[in-house]
Amino acid sequence: MDADRAGNAAANGGRILARSLVYGPVPSRRLGRSVGINNIPPKICSYSCIYCQLGRTPMTQVEPRPFYKPAKLIEAVETKLDQTREKREQVDYVTFVPDGEPTLDANLGEEIDVLKGLGAKLAVITNGSLLWRKDVRKNLLKADWLSLKIDAVDDEIWRRIDRPHKSLNLDTILQGMLKFAKSFNGELTTETMLIRDINDSEHEINKIAAFLAALKPAKAYLAIPTRPPAERIEPATEQTLNTAYQTFSKRLSGVEYLIGYEGNAFASTGNVVEDLLSITAVHPMREDAVAEFLENAGVGWSTIQELVDSGNLISLDYQGKKYYMRKLPTLSLSHS
Ligand code: SF4
Repeated sequence: MDADRAGNAAANGGRILARSLVYGPVPSRRLGRSVGINNIPPKICSYSCIYCQLGRTPMTQVEPRPFYKPAKLIEAVETKLDQTREKREQVDYVTFVPDGEPTLDANLGEEIDVLKGLGAKLAVITNGSLLWRKDVRKNLLKADWLSLKIDAVDDEIWRRIDRPHKSLNLDTILQGMLKFAKSFNGELTTETMLIRDINDSEHEINKIAAFLAALKPAKAYLAIPTRPPAERIEPATEQTLNTAYQTFSKRLSGVEYLIGYEGNAFASTGNVVEDLLSITAVHPMREDAVAEFLENAGVGWSTIQELVDSGNLISLDYQGKKYYMRKLPTLSLSHS
């Protein structure tokens, strides 16, 4: 639930600052302009991911329970949507993206039902750890867009990276995800956070790709932490991200990076440099595709050299071919 977390959430020296119940609209690469719903108090989660930007989970939990009165939450969304209409601001999605795991909210199904009645398109960003439960699957089937976290399919690696509640079982979760995907009519996406030396081996990336090929998401996002994480970790390197992209792309049609840039590869600004940086922030470009892009724009190869020299673009080799991707943003690893 991470790349789209926005608003005023922060883990500051271990102290979690609470956000309001409803916030935004905030720009999101995956969801356009999204009004966020914070239906879980900080920080109630079934995981304690080593890269979580909210710090460690004090006590992981797996039993859904009510946190806020649905009427209060719905009223806050209605007020927010009225305000955006008055200001003529566009809202593409209303999104459950709390300071914790949204499916731990026992009222989620009821809230989704009422919010859908308001005509809003609904998104949920979940770690998916409770999808083995029938009630959770039933609630999420009503969403229009869903993101599932799949950081590992190897039990030991999963325990190291996501640090789940002790009662959770990875095989049961993955089976629940597959079962859910078969009946979900909305847009299913996945997010895989790659952490150096933990889940970024070729072997694990291949295994994740095989699982995703069975899950068949509309889009599989490859992410790295871009905000200070709970533990001292390093994001995967550009080289690894490129390899993971190529591995995923062999089995899946929609693979994109989520590496901390809000670039939009599908909206051309007409500015060659900006467009190149936006595209390569979403996926690597092969040398011949770059050459064709430059030729169409009537610009010489020196533009690429300047972007590489200035540290904005990086060139990578994969199976005898050269690729270009946006250089990863520097992760500030400040800890208390
Ligand atoms: S799933 Fe992981 S990253 Fe998301 S809130 Fe829970 S601990 Fe943090």
